[in-house]
Parts: sequence; C-alpha cells; structure tokens
Amino acid sequence: MANFIPQEKIAEIQLASDIVQIISEYVNLKQSGKNFLGLCPFHSEKTPSFTVNPEKKLFKCFGCGEGGTVFNFLMKQEGMEFVEAVKIVASKSHIDLSHLNNTNKPSLSVTEKTRLFNINNFAVRFYNKVLLDSEQGKEARDYLKKRHINDQSIKNFCLGYAPNSWDSLLRVCNGRNISKNLLEKTGLVISKKEGNGYYDRFRNRLMFPISDSRKQVVGFGGRALDDSLPKYLNSPETVLFNKSNVLYGIDQAKNSILKHRKVILMEGYTDVIMAHQNGIEWSVAVMGTAISRHHLRLLRQYCNQVILLLDSDIAGWKSSDRNLDVFIEEEFDVKIAQLPKDYDPCDFLVAEGVDKFLAYVHDAKDFFSFKIETASSKWDTSTIQGKANAIHDVLSTAMKMPDIIKRNLLIKWIAEHMSIDEATLRIQLKKFNRHTSFADEKQTASRRLDASFTAERELLYLMLSCNELIPRVLEEIGLEEFNNRDLFKIAGKIVELYRKNTVVREEDVLHILDDVQLNKTLMDIITTKEFQHITNQDKRLEACIHFFKRRNSKKERYQAKEKTLKTIMASNNEEDILVSLDEFHRKSKNIHILKNKT
Ligand SMILES: [Zn+2]
Repeated sequence: MANFIPQEKIAEIQLASDIVQIISEYVNLKQSGKNFLGLCPFHSEKTPSFTVNPEKKLFKCFGCGEGGTVFNFLMKQEGMEFVEAVKIVASKSHIDLSHLNNTNKPSLSVTEKTRLFNINNFAVRFYNKVLLDSEQGKEARDYLKKRHINDQSIKNFCLGYAPNSWDSLLRVCNGRNISKNLLEKTGLVISKKEGNGYYDRFRNRLMFPISDSRKQVVGFGGRALDDSLPKYLNSPETVLFNKSNVLYGIDQAKNSILKHRKVILMEGYTDVIMAHQNGIEWSVAVMGTAISRHHLRLLRQYCNQVILLLDSDIAGWKSSDRNLDVFIEEEFDVKIAQLPKDYDPCDFLVAEGVDKFLAYVHDAKDFFSFKIETASSKWDTSTIQGKANAIHDVLSTAMKMPDIIKRNLLIKWIAEHMSIDEATLRIQLKKFNRHTSFADEKQTASRRLDASFTAERELLYLMLSCNELIPRVLEEIGLEEFNNRDLFKIAGKIVELYRKNTVVREEDVLHILDDVQLNKTLMDIITTKEFQHITNQDKRLEACIHFFKRRNSKKERYQAKEKTLKTIMASNNEEDILVSLDEFHRKSKNIHILKNKT
C-alpha cells in the first residue's frame, strides 16, 4: 500500500481519535451499553444494526457486514484513500502531520476538495455582498421582498446575487489568484467552446448556496430574475455536488427533524426558506430531481416519517408517482399533503399563515390512499381492463414493502379499499412473488459456510486475541493449511506483524490490509459473537489443531486411495499393489485414532 505515514504514527492517530464523534458527523448514534448504535449509512435499514465500539475503536454493521477502523469508515463514506482518511482523522485529533508532508507529496484529492470548498465559500460571500450592498443587487432584493423573505432568512441561508455579466465572479477570483482550472471544477465557471477563456455560469440570478449536512457548501442553485431559461439553474455534477445526494436546507433543518422525528419534503428553495422563517424548521427540499435512495438514507439518520408536500399538481414531482415507491422500499412512513390549487408552499405560508399550513401538513394522506387515488384517475376503472390496470399499479408498489407482516396487512387494506376479493388479490400476488423467492434461495446457499471455513476463522481469531499462540499455530498447523485464500492472506499479515512487533492488535492488521474484501472478512471475525465468548484460548487452539490434523488425514487417505486405484489399474505387480493398499489402511487408521480422541 502506498502509505508514507509510518505504522506507529497511524497507531497513534487511531488511539487519539474519537471514533464516536467522527462517525456522529454522518450517523446519529445512541449509546447502548458499552457501544453506540445507529442506522447504517451503507445499507438501508429501519432498526439500527450499525455499532461503534469506542473502546476498540471499531465500527461494524451486523446488517450488511461493513466494518473496520475509523479510517475504513471515512474511506467508505467519503470515497477517499487510506492515507487521506488518516490525515483527516489526524487533523480532527490534533495530531500534526505537517513534517511528513515536506518529504512526501500531500494527497491530491483531499487538498483539492478543500480548495473547492474554499472557492465555494468565497463565492457565497461574494454573491451575498453583491445582494446586500450593491446597486446591481436591487432587483434581487426587490424579488425577495416581494416573496416576503426577510433579512434574517437571507442571512441564515446566505442568499446572494450573481450580477448580470459574463465575468463578475471570474474577475474577483482572478484578483485573488484562484486557479481557473479549480474554479471550473466547482462548476461556477464554464470554459468557452471556442478560444480559451471562461465565463460565469450564473448570471443575473438570485443565488441559493447548497450545503451538505455538515454545513459545507457543495453547490449552488440560481433563480433567473428575467425570462432566462431554465428558471432554476443548479451547479452541474462536480466532485462536491451530486443532487441525488443533497437536500436543500438539511444543514439548518437536521436538529429540528431529529426533534420532531419527521420531515416535510418540498421542491423549492423559497419554500424551505419560508417554512424555516415561520418556525417550521423540519423541512427540506429536493432539487429538480426524483427522490433517491440516497436522499432517504440521509433523512433516515434523523427521522422515519416523511410528509411530501406537493404543489397542487402532481406532475410537479417529476413523478410518474412510481418514483415515490422508493419510500416503500426504504420502509419510510410517508404521507402526502396537497395544498390548494395554484399555491406553492411559500406563497401559501405568506397568504394563509402558519396554522393553516400546518393543518394541511397534519391532514396529509396516507401513501396508499394517494396511490389508489392516482391509479384510479389514471385508468378508467369503470371498465374491467381499467380496473385491472389500476389494481396492478397499486399492487406493484405494495409488493415493494420489505416487511412481510406489513405487506400482508396492506394487501387486506387494498382489497377493502379497491373493493376486490382478497383471495383473488392474493392469487395475483403469487405471480409477483415467484420472481423474488428464487433470488433469495440462491443467496442463502452461497452464504452457507463449511466446517473448514469456520475452523480457519476461529484460528485467526485466536491468533489475534491471544498473540502468544501464534508460534504454536505456525509450528503445529502452518499457514499453508488455510484453504480459504482470504483467510490465508490475513493470517500472513498477522504473522508478518507478529515477527516485527510481537504484539499484533486487530486494528494494526486492518491498517495494513489494502483490500476492502479482506477488511470485511477480518471485521466479521473480530465481531463474531461466539468467538467473543471464548475464554479458554489454549483449549480452543487444541481443538483447532485437532481439526486441521483430521482434515489432513482425510486428505491423505483420499490421496492414498487414488494412488492405490491408479496402481491397481496400471500395474500387474502384486507387490506394488500391496504397498499401496497398506499405505491406504494406515491413513484410514489415523483418522480413526483422531476421531476417537474427540
Ligand atoms: Zn450496514
């Protein structure tokens, strides 16, 4: 592994790090005994199986199997390299690595990301100043006034104005020696198709900086103040910005969402701002995109109920309402609220006030009532085919409900509400089911572990939890006995560290494994419950040695048998055959002796 940070330094950083605090930036953790529990950011779940152990400084998800050190967490979560993750943790733990940077190149992507964030922050300040203090910003100020967005909101959301010119931002960035190449990477400027210059992406637009949940500005939304199209222009996809991952307002809303255990999901920047301005801080917006799994996983950290606030027309939700099925797949409790025709949430709040607004939110419709309604309006349910189509629509969504009990209740409910015989509905369902169960079976089969694998895993566990046993393992079993290639590689690393330091800790091994799969395998072993209950390591090692010996004799007997058969086939020499048979019998006897010992 390209790793210029010395092993001791990595260990020091790991020791100094607060894994709970670092992971808490991404996952809402609750203490539970010695550990902390939360919802896994790497797979979809409703009950927490993501565990952080502050004592061992490891995390592990018992749902999807992800796990490792704080470095592994950042690598996976932020998609960074090991060395980058170590540096981030070092800086969070106040360990200075600057002396190492002198002799080695700093990791490009971390510094680049930081630079991009800095440029975004600079642009926020620039646009904000133009909005507040300049003559050019007047039109934007008037627009905000017209929409009743007050000064406090402008400040909270750092609103700004991009002047009506091709190079306002470019020029101030030039003056500060900000590289154009980096500037282009933020999406704030675009390189000219012809010739070699750049121009500002956002011109004559009201600017909404978009932050992630950690309050880092990842992109911008700009609303045209004239007839320019599109009316709303977002930053393009960049290293920092992916609109399927970001919810507008999440940085301001997250604490309130956590408190209310629910969130209002809207579509517009001004909707969110106006809701917050009226004290409804548990609201966020998606940005001109369908609701994605990533959005919901982000929200899952704070709540399990979503109230979708639709402008009066459903088409506004880019939905084919099928896009909303993701809520069911992710087991979110989702309700749909609809405002009166021709109102968006911002206007409605201004015109009708907060109480009426909240009344609509509280009257939100159950998702499947909404689903039946849309299906019924999509098809002509007075005809048989139309009704069948509507039922098919609703059922195909219902089948995505992962929880089988809920799914059953739902079928009953749908049968009632669509006036169909429940039994008929269930026959229809079987057709859906046939596709899914096959895949499940296949998965279980592939997960089945054999005895060898179990024994090899236990042996690794023993080597790690009781380093003194390592020499005996090498002497009596030997690394070449590991059949599983992954376990063999991990064992090799353990021995390598043992020879170097005579002390091997789990995290040391994790640090030098440069393969995600190996890392996962090792984490599985470290966190296997049965292993943790092992008290008498010597005895267990004895059992392992015995197992390996027996496995070997079986192998030898098999080989002897093969050899005997071959000899019989190939030779007429009686003596050869007898020698082979004798060898075969000896091997068989060995197995019996070993068997009786257990
Ligand atoms: Zn997980």
